[in-house]
Amino acid sequence: MLGPATLAALLALASPAPEDPALVGGADPWTAAQPGCGEARWCFGIALHVVQRDEELVQTPAWFARQLAEANRHFASIDTGFELASVEALDAAYAQVVTREARDEAGRHRFTRGVVHVFLIERLGDVDAPGEQIRGVHWRQRSKIEKRWIFLSGISSDMVLAHELGHFFSLPHSTYAISIMNKRRRESPPREARTFHPEEIQRMRKARNEMLADQMLVAREK
Ligand SMILES: [Zn+2]
Repeated sequence: MLGPATLAALLALASPAPEDPALVGGADPWTAAQPGCGEARWCFGIALHVVQRDEELVQTPAWFARQLAEANRHFASIDTGFELASVEALDAAYAQVVTREARDEAGRHRFTRGVVHVFLIERLGDVDAPGEQIRGVHWRQRSKIEKRWIFLSGISSDMVLAHELGHFFSLPHSTYAISIMNKRRRESPPREARTFHPEEIQRMRKARNEMLADQMLVAREK
């Protein structure tokens, strides 16, 4: 028979991660602000988790709508679009994600297949350069690398989600001048003329088809 102490220990082991708060203002302002997949043949859902601290969200629906519109503009080259599938508040414990452990922890119990999980946080630490921060990252859970998700920092410029989705669609960083996967500073082409390189487009198309086949992503009805 289990004593009360043993039972309490077992319950503690089984208890889930801290529960996220209810989203302030509800999902409507978010879904209303977002662009849809438009004409894209393949439409994929984004499951958004937004850090909420003291009843305040770290970013606005309009800010995320610009990220999504920019991603859809670049992914039109593979006839693919993204739309908001769900939005939930994320516990303030994840406002600042600065370690590999925290990156794993945020997604571990929130990840599901079929959609792209995006964690919109306040500050994303550079795990390779302590004290520095980055704007976004595509992260694979270290103990189970097929589980992966994206972090976006609230300071990100509009193109960061598109870049991280490029990683989600199998792209590494590149040196193509035109590419949004090229992180080097350069004069030309100007930022507004940058997109994916034809080689990258080909690779992303293949990755999309593989993700559709193994249901890492599930196309949404339009
Ligand atoms: Zn990158």
